[in-house]
Amino acid sequence: MKHIRADDPDGQGRWSFSSQQATLRRLDKAFRAFFDRVKAGRTPGCPRFKGRGWFDSVQWPKDGDGCRWDSQPEHPTATYVRLQGIGHVRVHQHRPVHGRVKTISVKREGRRWYVLVSCQGVPARPLPATGAVTGIDMGVASLVTTSDGEHVVNPRHLAATADRLAVVRRDLARKQRGSKRRRKAVARVAALHAKARRQRIDGAHETALALIRDYGMIVHEDLRITNMTRSASGTIDAPGRNVAQKSGLNRSILDAGWGVFLTILAHKVESAGRELIAVNPAGTSRTCARCGHCAKENHLTQASFVCTACGHAAHADVNAAVNVLRAGLALRRAAEAA
Ligand SMILES: [Zn+2]
Repeated sequence: MKHIRADDPDGQGRWSFSSQQATLRRLDKAFRAFFDRVKAGRTPGCPRFKGRGWFDSVQWPKDGDGCRWDSQPEHPTATYVRLQGIGHVRVHQHRPVHGRVKTISVKREGRRWYVLVSCQGVPARPLPATGAVTGIDMGVASLVTTSDGEHVVNPRHLAATADRLAVVRRDLARKQRGSKRRRKAVARVAALHAKARRQRIDGAHETALALIRDYGMIVHEDLRITNMTRSASGTIDAPGRNVAQKSGLNRSILDAGWGVFLTILAHKVESAGRELIAVNPAGTSRTCARCGHCAKENHLTQASFVCTACGHAAHADVNAAVNVLRAGLALRRAAEAA
């Protein structure tokens, strides 16, 4: 990279060295992941060449090194960020920055640009203690069901916009490459995706906040979402069955955004001084929460649970959530005894 920069002082040489290094690290990560998947016997796609038009984000790994957050602190109202090779850029700051700024990223989403700031030494904001505990079951119909029987209906924004997205995509396919209309159509597709993503993150924040307000300890299933989504294509030795059907489920899973939700929940739990426990989800949907009888026949339909041993009837997700909570409490007792 040093040679490239020296040969091209008005081009590549203008930008921050650390920032270019960060991009190379991302390339390295992509290739590492590719070779790991090859070793695991899967059939990954080789990382493709990405021209500058394909990149939507760039990172400056250290505040003060080619970038500066709040570069014009004397300005009475506006916040600025200075980026090497670009200059001072005004930022619409939607919430105050806590702690010390560590890294700065700039991201493009359709026609919008975002500045992402990661900070160190962010003070925790503990919530008043509560002894209440809950288990949560994560599903497709309801994003979250608590062991107290509360359902948070999965908004499935992406599914709702899927029709609109299909129309816009068809529209896009008819456009001539390199035309102005095609560029606009691309922007419309990106805007729809971005909207769904924002709404999903918003919903996850709301749900997570409600949970940490009410409960001191939250138990969830340890869902290896990536494992579940992987099962569709399978490996060379064991190709996946029902690929089409499972892809449909994958879509629902990804749409439900469990991974996003759990990440946000973990951050909030940490900041509020709450406790989060992940338990093995095996059997939680088939086991009776009242008598412990475990059988496949218990789980009649997607929504209803009727125990074949004791006759206990409940909503399937609530029954699972109670089992999750019980497993979590058992784990905590074991940890305390040890
Ligand atoms: Zn039972």
